[in-house]
Amino acid sequence: MRPVYLDNNATTRVDPAVVEAMLPFFTEQFGNPSSIHSFGASVGQNVKKARQQLQQLLGAEHDHEIIYTASGTEADNTAILSALESMPGRDEIITSAVEHPAVLALCQHLEKIGRAKVHYIGVDSLGRLDLEAYRAALTDKVALVTFMWANNETGTIFPVEALAELAKEVGALFHTDAVQAVGKAPIVLKGSAIDMLSLSGHKLHAPKGIGALYVKRGSRFKPLLRGGHQERGRRAGTENTPGIIGLGKAAELAIAHMAEEQTRVKELRDRLESAILQRVPNCFVNGDPRERLPNTTNIAFEYVEGEAILLHLTRQGIAASSGSACTSGSLEPSHVMRAMNVPFTAAHGSIRFSLSRDNVPEDIDQVIDALPKILENLRELSPFWAGANKGPTEFKPVYA
Ligand code: PLP
Repeated sequence: MRPVYLDNNATTRVDPAVVEAMLPFFTEQFGNPSSIHSFGASVGQNVKKARQQLQQLLGAEHDHEIIYTASGTEADNTAILSALESMPGRDEIITSAVEHPAVLALCQHLEKIGRAKVHYIGVDSLGRLDLEAYRAALTDKVALVTFMWANNETGTIFPVEALAELAKEVGALFHTDAVQAVGKAPIVLKGSAIDMLSLSGHKLHAPKGIGALYVKRGSRFKPLLRGGHQERGRRAGTENTPGIIGLGKAAELAIAHMAEEQTRVKELRDRLESAILQRVPNCFVNGDPRERLPNTTNIAFEYVEGEAILLHLTRQGIAASSGSACTSGSLEPSHVMRAMNVPFTAAHGSIRFSLSRDNVPEDIDQVIDALPKILENLRELSPFWAGANKGPTEFKPVYA
């Protein structure tokens, strides 16, 4: 069976050119970039070059605005804790109900230990932020506003620049978790109101275990990890030099492939989506069909278990995901589906297909061939399907 990988929002294949760029930094170029002898110095120069490659991808003003971390999760945690520590007299955080657990779990913990009051702003049925609730929560008590750039489950994009400008009006810091956006959507941080931005290497064809936090020059910042003077004293710990070099190369490739992501990958995604919507009754797209990442579609199939669909797809060589739709082992629909008020019978059958530049038209053909039959068979077994109102979906997401 020809393997088809459509789970690129979970992780991407490391680009062979990235591997090639990294290899010398495991062997000949093993020096510590902090050492002043020649072994360290040449590594240090390459680390600087990688930082500049990432700076370019982000449209940042200066390469020193980039702090390397070990993951997107570390970058998110650092941004939130730094904001609370560096904004005395302010102990409130505004975030959304649909953030990744890298943000939500820390916010919930900070609430639990009494360190912060957190406002979780809701979304409508298309996953769009409730702007009125956001405006109402903005006061001079807010230390940090943190909204994701793009949602990992649905691909829905938040208008982060406009949201950041509103945060500035009350003097709050603004952070965005751009882990799913970097490399897929154009980003220009120079001149933007965004103070901090998180990214993760393994979502853009770099390895796992390397991420970065952008901190705008002049923004208040307190480190999470203390120790050595690495990263100008902002993140202690000897640098993951192969990972940093790999992320730099991946950034260079992402710039080169950005146009492809916006056109070829988007066309593949759109073809997949419209064929499925046409051939399978009782299904609809979760999230905002207009403001969306070009690589992601999340389709809700009514009256069937997402896990069962995934299992049958796997048997046919196709890897997709139920998003975080059913936290493994439990039957709870994901917090994103619940926040969007997707009906229970559809939230359970939601499948995320996420593409990358590695995908080819045959991948899409294979899914279009396999999926309608899988759905037909599963629904025949579903007790809910027998009594269902077949044809048009009962749930129609609307533009509020
Ligand atoms: N934020 C978002 C939106 C993500 O999708 C992910 C990973 O899935 C993360 C944060 C966490 O990144 P990492 O896996 O590098 O810790």
